[in-house]
Amino acid sequence: QQLINQIAAGEVIDRPAAVIKELVENSLDAGADRLDLDIEQGGQRLMRVRDNGCGIPRDELTLALSRHATSKIASLDDLEHVRSLGFRGEALPSIASVSRLTLTSCTADEAAGWRLRGDGHERFASPEPAAHPQGTTVEVRDLFFNVPARRKFLRTERTEYQHIEEVVRRIALSRFDVAVRLNHNGKAQFELRLADDAEAMGRRVAAVCSEAFLAESSRIEHAGAGMRLWGWLGAPTFSRAQPDLQYFYVNGRMVRDKLVSHALRLAYQDVLYHGRHPAYVLFLEIDPVAVDVNAHPAKAEVRFRDSRLVHDYLHRTLKEAIATRGV
Ligand code: ADP
Ligand code: MG
Repeated sequence: QQLINQIAAGEVIDRPAAVIKELVENSLDAGADRLDLDIEQGGQRLMRVRDNGCGIPRDELTLALSRHATSKIASLDDLEHVRSLGFRGEALPSIASVSRLTLTSCTADEAAGWRLRGDGHERFASPEPAAHPQGTTVEVRDLFFNVPARRKFLRTERTEYQHIEEVVRRIALSRFDVAVRLNHNGKAQFELRLADDAEAMGRRVAAVCSEAFLAESSRIEHAGAGMRLWGWLGAPTFSRAQPDLQYFYVNGRMVRDKLVSHALRLAYQDVLYHGRHPAYVLFLEIDPVAVDVNAHPAKAEVRFRDSRLVHDYLHRTLKEAIATRGV
């Protein structure tokens, strides 16, 4: 069983950033609106995610670390309407099998919290009492300490940290309603407060994507063809040699999709000089039944029911925005 977990972990958890992604998605699933992340040595030594979500009751702590004990998909119908980010029920067991994991949690019904420690094996001691406000803290130490082959593939501390930061960026831009704090080696990297109005959202975009991007982008907001498109469209002058400032969300989920990038490239076609990539933070809202966001969860691809309609809507709307606002 431990081996199965480790094999599964190899597929899902290939580097520290993948752990952060899973832990943060769990926190969001738990309804948290505050995330505190502490990273040490690019995540290899320590990753700690603390949230103020619903917490895990004492007698479910062991279950949370056990394989296939949980699954939020009750039916195919659920799958079609899936909005919740997590659904596989294997992230925590996988992570626990390749690290020293400590789960501390407290629910609204409990007077104080409980802690469960794992050491890379399937057996856990009973939870012990631990002070904790409502919510959950997952601490992952010594990632891959028992999987030398994995450890060998880790890059430098800096590179691994940058992957983590990118994961946090993507989430911070998709959830303006969640406060996010990120520390690396004790130094504050992001300190993002809840952003509940346009100005605060702009501040967050500046903090995550740079002041320069915010200054050289224009706000767009458009509804049509049963969809809504809003966000920040970077000026051609702010285009990049690398496509590294391209954030596109469909119903709150970040996607990298050929159809989407094609529509964007077409829209910018006449104003972008050769070899440059547009920069943008855009949100498309569309009826959930008209899109399958889980077509390839790992690849972040989506499948639109009417891809032609979506492509043309994006192209037309963005082209117009670029032309009329002179972004
Ligand atoms: P999944 O998210 O796919 O259900 P995970 O292995 O990621 O599976 O998590 C297992 C379970 O542990 C979750 O279903 C949830 O019940 C619980 N859990 C994990 N993290 C948290 C958290 N931060 N807050 C509350 N519950 C959590
Ligand atoms: Mg999960």
